[in-house]
Amino acid sequence: MNQSLNRILKGYKTFRDKYVHGDTSIMQHLSQHGQKPEMMVVACCDSRVDPALILQCDPGDLFIVRNVANIVSPYEKDEMHYGTSAALEFGINFLKVNHLVLLGHSQCGGVNALMNGRILAKMTKKDL
Ligand SMILES: [Zn+2]
Repeated sequence: MNQSLNRILKGYKTFRDKYVHGDTSIMQHLSQHGQKPEMMVVACCDSRVDPALILQCDPGDLFIVRNVANIVSPYEKDEMHYGTSAALEFGINFLKVNHLVLLGHSQCGGVNALMNGRILAKMTKKDL
């Protein structure tokens, strides 16, 4: 097995030991009582911008939706499916979050691609 997979499996075991089987059992509490995060974060998929890591939050503290360049597309009244819009509606109307944070970051590859038409032109339809 390669090193990356071993590292991920070890991390998953640590996660389960700490959050699922640990004395505090945050996950058990959340599964029994549901999540009631006070803050929702829209963040980029970039690995450097993990909201829970940056804000040092525990499971249940944040309701997070991530996409490339943390783009929130405008509302469209049609039959298409919009993941970010659905997450926003769920977070605001169902979970009743008190705060909404759009977490941008420097040197975003998604924003760079958006602003640089040449990068997008290189992408084929298969890439999208
Ligand atoms: Zn980004």
